[in-house]
Formats: sequence, structure tokens, C-alpha cells
Amino acid sequence: MAERKLPRLEPETAFYWTAGAEGVLRIQRCTECGTYQHPPFPRCSSCGSEAVAPEAVSGKGRLASYTVNREAWVSGLAVPFVFGVVELAEQAQLYVFTNILADEVRVGMPLTVSFEQHDDVWLPMFREEKA
Ligand SMILES: [Zn+2]
Repeated sequence: MAERKLPRLEPETAFYWTAGAEGVLRIQRCTECGTYQHPPFPRCSSCGSEAVAPEAVSGKGRLASYTVNREAWVSGLAVPFVFGVVELAEQAQLYVFTNILADEVRVGMPLTVSFEQHDDVWLPMFREEKA
């Protein structure tokens, strides 16, 4: 497989890129008020608490919007590819920006997480959830 640029594993975000090793998607959640937030941040965007921690989520969501890219602006990326905004099932307006693995995409389509492993990084992507 061609070389793909991988995210650097920073202390605050590593959990997001490595959770796929256990087959789950983890999103940061405030333990005070229960608000999820992504990308991770040292304090809760809703109540300001610093009691935020990764929590496993269902990995399900729906496609909020997308773009179809026909030029590989990252080396090793196969084209065309779909880059989408996924609204996670756990909370309204909780968005993850990532690749959508589907031949046909439409706004609102149900999605489920799928991981692509590269060394110690598991890239969370989404594919159509079949009923
Ligand atoms: Zn909070």
C-alpha cells in the first residue's frame, strides 16, 4: 500500500487514533455534564470543566455533508475519494471529519465506523451501515 501521511500521536489526541485497536471509536466526553466534544480539548466546551475523558461510542452516525475529491492532495490517496462530515449518533452536532467508504453517498445516509490500520494508528473512517 502506498505511503499515507499519518496523524502524529499527541498526548491529548492519541486515544482517538489508537482506539481502533480495540475495534471501538472513542470520543472525549465531559464527566461533569455528559457533553461529548471532538476534536479533544483540555476543558469542556459546554460547562468549562477539565474533567474530560475518552469514552467509547457506538460508532454510528449519519452523513451530514460531503465532498467528492478527484485530486490526490495527499500522496498515496486513491481518487476519487469522499470526504465527509459525520454527525455521530450520540449527540446532535457532534461531528467527525473523515473519509467515507462508499460508492454512492447521500446526505443523511446511515454510517458505521470502520478502521484502517497503519502501524500504530487506526484511522477511523465510515462506511454505509447496511440495514
Ligand atoms: Zn461539561
